[in-house]
Amino acid sequence: MNFIGKNIAVVGAGTMGNGIAHVFAQAGFKVTIVDISPAQLDRAMVTINKNLDRQVSKGNITEAQKNETLENLSINSNLVDGIKDSSLVVEAATENTALKLQIFEDLDKYAPKDAILATNTSSISITKIAAVTNRAPKVIGMHFMNPVPVMKLVEIINGYATSKEVTDAIVELSKQLGKVPCVVNDYPGFIANRILMPMINEAIYSLYEGVAGVSEIDTVMKLGMAHPMGPLQLADFIGLDVCLAILKVLHEGFGNPKYAPCPLLINMVTAGKLGVKSGEGFYVYTAGSKDLVVSAQFAK
Ligand code: NAD
Repeated sequence: MNFIGKNIAVVGAGTMGNGIAHVFAQAGFKVTIVDISPAQLDRAMVTINKNLDRQVSKGNITEAQKNETLENLSINSNLVDGIKDSSLVVEAATENTALKLQIFEDLDKYAPKDAILATNTSSISITKIAAVTNRAPKVIGMHFMNPVPVMKLVEIINGYATSKEVTDAIVELSKQLGKVPCVVNDYPGFIANRILMPMINEAIYSLYEGVAGVSEIDTVMKLGMAHPMGPLQLADFIGLDVCLAILKVLHEGFGNPKYAPCPLLINMVTAGKLGVKSGEGFYVYTAGSKDLVVSAQFAK
């Protein structure tokens, strides 16, 4: 093991936070999951349990490994208490700049002085986040992909001041988690979302302009480009609020109108249609059903 110790904290227990906690705990780290919402913390534990059960039923891990993973996990709704012994904090809270800056001010204040502070942000500047701390060389992007236990990539983002020692440690750590690290620099959207989000936005524009329907757009990209999931289904899966937040960062960061979020995406987020997590986006999601059903809004 490199200089990162056994105690890790994950701040934010949503879609990504529970997956990140899962992979660290499975790799033998003691993980504290922190969230302001006790309900989210409970939900995260239910999700991790369910995902571990799936790994057991597929024969990927044993029942004993599942139990060891669960023993490595704890939850805490108090940030100060939850991070006090951590050698690494991975922040995976809501994609909102003001919120993340506040969280990093607190992490800097309350985490051990030598702890590395990583963020799973999809698009917000690592340099900007690091600037609110007194330890910019120890701040880095550790961008996991969804679903975290399944997806191999970790996009590692160097902020302007991130030290080489910290980058090397996070690269090694990612390998220890069974992931493939890829180091990139800190510009809006990094690599993953700089390329993915304009494609998703273009798919939404194509729907908005009536060029084609939801199924047609996704089918063209699945069968024509060998994408495992169409861009509209992927947007639902990521969360339409997350997609909108990332497009705004790209738009502001580059000042280029080509990144302007489609008005349809803005309307859907305003109406609370956030995709899988709210039960409806371009498709509707019913618990227990694997069928892909286009939302009535677009099935005309
Ligand atoms: P989410 O909405 O599912 O979860 C966010 C969680 O943060 C919620 O549980 C919320 O209660 C919690 N939170 C809000 N304020 C907090 C605070 N002050 N302290 C602690 N917890 C707080 O969001 P998500 O999809 O898991 O995204 C989390 C991060 O991961 C974002 O930065 C997002 O851009 C990034 N990301 C998301 C995806 C994806 O596919 N959804 C992929 C890669 C990266």
